[in-house]
Amino acid sequence: MIRSRKARIVATLGPATSDIDTITQLFNAGADVFRLNFSHGSHADHKRRYDLVREVERVSGRPISILADMQGPKLRVGPFAAGKVMLAEGAEFSLDTNPAPGDVNRVYLPHPELFEVVAAGQSLLLDDGKLRLEVLDNNGERIRTRVKHGGALSDRKGVNVPDTILPIPVLTQKDRVDLEFALSLGADWIALSFVQRPEDLVDARELIGDRAGLMVKLEKPAALDRLDEIVQASDSVMVARGDLGVELPPERVPGVQKRILRSCRSHGKPVIIATQMLESMIAAPVPTRAEASDVATAIYDGADAVMLSAESASGAFPVQAVAMMDRIIKEVEHDPLYRSLIDAQHELPLNTPGDAICAALRDVAQTINAVVAVTYTTSGHTSLRAARQRPAAPILSITPKLATARRLALVWGVHSTVSPDIGSVDEMVSAACGTAAREGFASPGDQVAIAAGMPFGESGTTNLLRIARV
Ligand code: PGA
Ligand code: MN
Repeated sequence: MIRSRKARIVATLGPATSDIDTITQLFNAGADVFRLNFSHGSHADHKRRYDLVREVERVSGRPISILADMQGPKLRVGPFAAGKVMLAEGAEFSLDTNPAPGDVNRVYLPHPELFEVVAAGQSLLLDDGKLRLEVLDNNGERIRTRVKHGGALSDRKGVNVPDTILPIPVLTQKDRVDLEFALSLGADWIALSFVQRPEDLVDARELIGDRAGLMVKLEKPAALDRLDEIVQASDSVMVARGDLGVELPPERVPGVQKRILRSCRSHGKPVIIATQMLESMIAAPVPTRAEASDVATAIYDGADAVMLSAESASGAFPVQAVAMMDRIIKEVEHDPLYRSLIDAQHELPLNTPGDAICAALRDVAQTINAVVAVTYTTSGHTSLRAARQRPAAPILSITPKLATARRLALVWGVHSTVSPDIGSVDEMVSAACGTAAREGFASPGDQVAIAAGMPFGESGTTNLLRIARV
């Protein structure tokens, strides 16, 4: 089964997509990666969905990526005695360390770290930015504010502090439990929410080891100050426009999205554009024209993947939403303008043997009109570097490791397959041609270009380029 497009689709699973029929339909409609969102649902829910995706994988014979998304340190106010209050513009309102239920004058803020850093003049955003408070002073136990944008505030609404780096670990206690659970299931990617600095990745790296890839969600403006370092330290990135758009004004999100995308393409890290892509399809069978244009823009910019959140997790038209993304992506990729835009942002190879081979693979495949560019990979690195070159031919990735094949299902242009280790160049050529024919890319007489490394089976040895005829 071949996906006749380069960009990938990530579908979040949720209450609307928790049975084998629906998940099978999502896969058949085009979902390449399934996201388990640990902000919602029980471990039993996630395990059930995990097992169903693996069942779809078994039946289809195609490696599927499963992304476990950690909730991260989402800050919230405490409860109110009356459940909710109305904050009037111009009024004073305090957040303090007293766990008693709140009223129109004050509320409990159960995050002691905030009292260490919040300072006069800063803003606090409540309920996804709907309310805005300006800090008057902070005595370490009570943050006194003036209401700038008022409105209703109810129990446990979110708090954002856009103006400062928060001294809070990116993995909460809940995240540590969820992370271990997700790894025990066999998740391929672990996503970290609210990353602010490259150092935030250290603990997660240690806990994860080589059991999964580490994805960074960029949703804090502070992370942009050290964007390149963070991208470099990650294995992949999500442009999480939901929370990003709370702390940044909406008009800044598109430029930031392009900046992050550019950095990821330059470092060769897979990048997902996420949130509100087909938002109106939560309730309607067709998207708005603006939403179609948003998905298309991400594809024209060379994103690896586009993501559905509530559209597929809890919406009324999850399968239609995936099918719509699939059609938009194919339409863009058939546009001659697409190739010229991708080529215009072509990344030069670094001066490593692997990059030299991958750049040559792209050029050779193009020159001889190869039906596929084959990459032999153990860790996935060679396929990632080949994808960074954004070749016109599909990348047929061959690896002995199922975990590598699954992880690569997220990557632009890569069709990953699992095949036992090879021992010689002759074996490599015949396995490459055989796989290309069997997977439906090549017919007898077609040419393929092959990149590999000798000695075979060792990581980081890419040094071989071959042309072969099927
Ligand atoms: P979330 O992340 O759905 O976990 O909040 C995505 C986003 O913030 O856009
Ligand atoms: Mn988020």
